[in-house]
Amino acid sequence: MFYRFRNDFQLSIITLLGVSAVTGIVPFAVFRFWNGEVLAGLLDTAIVTLIIAGMTYAWVTGDSRRAGVFMCVLISAGAAAVAIVIGTKAIFWIYVVLVTSFFLAPPALATVCNLLMLGAVVLVGDPFDQNQSLYSFLATGIMVSCCAYVFGRRNEDQRIRLERLATHDPLTGAKNRRVMEEEMQAAISTFERNDTPHALVILDLDHFKTINDNHGHGVGDVVLRDVADLVNRHTRLSDTLFRFGGEEFVLLMPGVRPEATASVAENLRYKIMTELRGPRGSRITASFGVASLRVGESDDLWLERADSALYEAKTTGRNKVVVAERMEDDMDDMNAQAIVDDRLTTAVPSC
Ligand code: GH3
Ligand code: MG
Ligand code: MG
Repeated sequence: MFYRFRNDFQLSIITLLGVSAVTGIVPFAVFRFWNGEVLAGLLDTAIVTLIIAGMTYAWVTGDSRRAGVFMCVLISAGAAAVAIVIGTKAIFWIYVVLVTSFFLAPPALATVCNLLMLGAVVLVGDPFDQNQSLYSFLATGIMVSCCAYVFGRRNEDQRIRLERLATHDPLTGAKNRRVMEEEMQAAISTFERNDTPHALVILDLDHFKTINDNHGHGVGDVVLRDVADLVNRHTRLSDTLFRFGGEEFVLLMPGVRPEATASVAENLRYKIMTELRGPRGSRITASFGVASLRVGESDDLWLERADSALYEAKTTGRNKVVVAERMEDDMDDMNAQAIVDDRLTTAVPSC
């Protein structure tokens, strides 16, 4: 629980704001009932209940984005309703909501909620008896919203940038190995739940070191970027490319039946060989290992089988595709043949 609180920024904001809103609003709800302001008391109680529901939803489902949007809409509508019901006494809460909404929802949505809240308070509630107070309220409300918008926008941009840095390889734009492990686990769960077949392809560029050695690291980098672009162009949107290591990539393909894996990988091998050009127009080739997910298989074993197939492709000539299942069948046949041969030799006495 503490781990989630520390690592999910949105969840921690929802929880902190939720807890402070609940502890801040509950005394007011009690006071309003005590004072005979039943409608305002009921409104406060409803807001507190829905805030708790939003927090619980975020913790139970892990969907803190949706919970944040819900709480932003809720507190804006709630603050406007309270201000309409009890007038200027509730105006200070509006400023809290004007800022808080940017912590909970994307900046554009928070801005819309703020404008609607200010509009509702002024047009429906009409709580000010002097025009000067009304203009001051609108001017300060809009100023607070603008500052919060700039802060919210910046915060959102930085979050997206950090998220990308943590999940993608900066050179090729492919996803990184950490995400690969998570997505392989997710693929295994989907396979166990719905029987959806999944294929894993590992591709490794052939003799890539010589490109670096002969033309420099910069040229090698361009080739790596071109490979990632080409694979992305020739695969489906549901397929995901990961950079596994230096010049090794992994492609996770949901919905590809075992009998179709070879032709998908073969097509990529052909495209790399014919469309990619290295320095001075030289040919680039890659070797492929392919494995389809099996019932009860772990992600480590699945990857290991694809890697063994890749090793086979490398050791038997490169620029080729080896399918793990076929390789394993061949090995089984060879073992069976060896047993038969062994039996025959022991059964027929030599002269
Ligand atoms: P093989 O056909 O057996 O795969 O031979 P290879 O030369 O491709 O394989 P090897 O593993 O010996 O060399 C991989 C090279 O990839 C070594 C390393 O310098 C290079 N490399 C790893 N990461 C990067 C990178 O980010 N940029 C560049 N330019 N080169 C990289
Ligand atoms: Mg290589
Ligand atoms: Mg390699």
